[in-house]
Amino acid sequence: MANPRKKVKRNLTDVEGFINFVSSPRKSKTDREFFEVDINCKTKSIRGICYDVDRSPLLQKFNKDQQSCLIMNAESSNNDIIINDETIVKLKEVDFENLTHESPTYTMEQVINECPLYQRITVIGQLFNLQEPTLSSIKKTRLREGSFIDKSNSTRPITFFQDDHINMVKERTSYKITNVVVSKYSSKKILQVSENSIITEITDSGDYNLPEQSGNCNASGIISMIELDSLQKQFFCKLCSHPIKPTSRNLFKCCGKIFTDIDVIAKTDVVFTLRYDDTTSRKFSCSRPLLDGLVGKNGNADEDIFISLLLKKAVTIEHCSKQKDDCFEVMKIKNRQDEASSSLLENEAIPSWQEDEANT
Ligand SMILES: [Zn+2]
Repeated sequence: MANPRKKVKRNLTDVEGFINFVSSPRKSKTDREFFEVDINCKTKSIRGICYDVDRSPLLQKFNKDQQSCLIMNAESSNNDIIINDETIVKLKEVDFENLTHESPTYTMEQVINECPLYQRITVIGQLFNLQEPTLSSIKKTRLREGSFIDKSNSTRPITFFQDDHINMVKERTSYKITNVVVSKYSSKKILQVSENSIITEITDSGDYNLPEQSGNCNASGIISMIELDSLQKQFFCKLCSHPIKPTSRNLFKCCGKIFTDIDVIAKTDVVFTLRYDDTTSRKFSCSRPLLDGLVGKNGNADEDIFISLLLKKAVTIEHCSKQKDDCFEVMKIKNRQDEASSSLLENEAIPSWQEDEANT
């Protein structure tokens, strides 16, 4: 970072063209309301973000009437413009037609190596490893995650946020998707499908080298319930593996022998409910060390702390496909990526007044 005292220099710009799309108002991660517009300029289509929803009706009118306009003193941010309180929006005749310029097509390899962050792009390839719809941990809206592969044989995580997109996409199906935003999570570029992305199913050879997949399944959601009993240690006989209970003197009897606790197997399989969305949930059983790793405690954590760290956590799970005692056994568990990605716009375009705030 540069010297924090240095005032962020605003990069102001004038744009003229046709308003082609006005989004519904949404809330940013910091609870600020905003909406976005698409502007068809002479040679490209760009996106504008506006944090004053009272400016929406005029832009909607320009969109509806197909009238061109001039947007003066907007702020450049990445590939977008920000319509702020100093920006002037007014009618203006232009000498070009209202044409939507499709976002440039990038391969997954180019996304990884060349494509600038927050660029809007078109992708052509196949969806795989598509998860069930789930709830965003931050904004409690629905989303659906998967992976995207194309002819470059590289892959990227991809997330869908709109209900109609979530409901239409299918596993191992090829699509052309426009207006995908290149975002990042954990220093890794990811793809986010926009409200006005156009998803077209295509037929291609479908001959992709999908990465090797284990026989396990994936799930993601929010940990919504923990079975208290399952937090207790369970003991098993070392000889026959049967579950055994300690006697009042803390000894164990099995296979015609009496053991001390040194000679029995002790483990804790925590049983919890993972909520996928409002209507779907599943029960999982997970060994305590995996959960200790997830919450960053080494097993010595106080039980109340352990529970509070775990509940409401958004996670992605790799689990066995077969159920045992109503539960799926967890093989891997990690924090879910949408923690960052669901904050869609806040990441893409930070107005300089926000940077100013951050720097004071
Ligand atoms: Zn035994």
